[in-house]
Amino acid sequence: SDVFNSVQQLPPDALFNLKARLSKDPRPLKVDLGIGAYRDNNGKPWVLPSVVKAEKLITSDPNYNHEYLGISGLPQLTKAAAKTIIGHANFDHDRIISVQSLSGTGALHIASKFLSIIPTTKSKTVYISDPTWINHVNIFENEGFKVEKYPYWDYENKCLNFDAMLSYFQSIENGGIILLHACAHNPTGMDPTETQWRQILDVMHEKDHFVLFDSAYQGFASGSLEKDAFAIRLAVNEKLRDSCLLICQSFAKNVGMYGERVGCFHVVLPEGGNPSVSTSVLSQLNKITRSEVSNPPAYGAKIVSTILTNEELTNQWHKDLITMSGRIKEMRYKLRDHLVTLKTPGNWDHIVQQCGMFSFTGLNSEMAQRLEKKHAVYITGNGRASIAGLNEGNVEYVAKAIDEVVR
Ligand code: PLP
Repeated sequence: SDVFNSVQQLPPDALFNLKARLSKDPRPLKVDLGIGAYRDNNGKPWVLPSVVKAEKLITSDPNYNHEYLGISGLPQLTKAAAKTIIGHANFDHDRIISVQSLSGTGALHIASKFLSIIPTTKSKTVYISDPTWINHVNIFENEGFKVEKYPYWDYENKCLNFDAMLSYFQSIENGGIILLHACAHNPTGMDPTETQWRQILDVMHEKDHFVLFDSAYQGFASGSLEKDAFAIRLAVNEKLRDSCLLICQSFAKNVGMYGERVGCFHVVLPEGGNPSVSTSVLSQLNKITRSEVSNPPAYGAKIVSTILTNEELTNQWHKDLITMSGRIKEMRYKLRDHLVTLKTPGNWDHIVQQCGMFSFTGLNSEMAQRLEKKHAVYITGNGRASIAGLNEGNVEYVAKAIDEVVR
């Protein structure tokens, strides 16, 4: 009867709590720069034209149904998703084992479970960037991993703390599990350059570190799927081609399928490795999925696989990615320019140097609170603003609000 009396109450999730405060806020000018979801120029959620077309195609098929998928998910999706992330050229796709996951979070969860059952990785530390997406900590700690932070952001100069990051990777014990954001780093919006990626992956190789790529924003950062997969492709085709690595892939942001939970988890084997490993790995991944969700959700998977396999829809999707990334980029420039015009104290160039959904503005938690209380502009307490929430109608207002809290 009193078995649950000792259950400790946890604080609410910061981001979803912000969303709740925002929805209760009666001020008409309120601006949502909290949650990382794309909004159009009217501040509304955007269903991508490629998605609208794919939905029509799927639901007009006379054989359309809601049957279960197999345990590993929809094969058309997992195959096409692997090609999307790795590319088509010069890669032996037999090296990759792919299963469908509950979006990017589910892929990270499968990664943590999978690593926890492998004797050579189960007692290892997982290294995540400082700062990172908060759920990285939860996911790996839940699975019993020790989680340590590697230097990533130079808080004072608002840029990548590259030298410190590289020497950190060199200084830790060989064989560490390193989580790298493939592109559009969350929350900083600052990615390594191509030259810096080469250096990072060289150290991964020298130190025999085990790399886990989290790819939640492919195509969303630059508008180009290829450019945003640069680090992953460099790793699998060149720098780490004789190593195993993992890729967690989300279609939440780049296809705008947030609530449909479409993603994939990929295990990449070394070039020329033992082909029988694939069968064993797949059997373990299937056991994880079967015991937790039985089989992954079908609807979003059908939409994304249709987009990735129908040439006309793929082309439309490429345009949609440019629409989203282009509008966000434009808003970065508008916000920076307004702050410069207002002579807001400080340098704001980092806003245009960053990419993807977010800007790590450099505002502290008091400023973030004041933005919310006085101006109804919602950003997270660490100063992260979702640039997708800006539009022609509110960007000047937001700049003025930032100006007021900074002075
Ligand atoms: N990884 C990073 C870095 C993210 O920012 C997110 C979402 O915000 C995810 C993974 C997972 O998102 P989802 O589970 O919605 O695909």
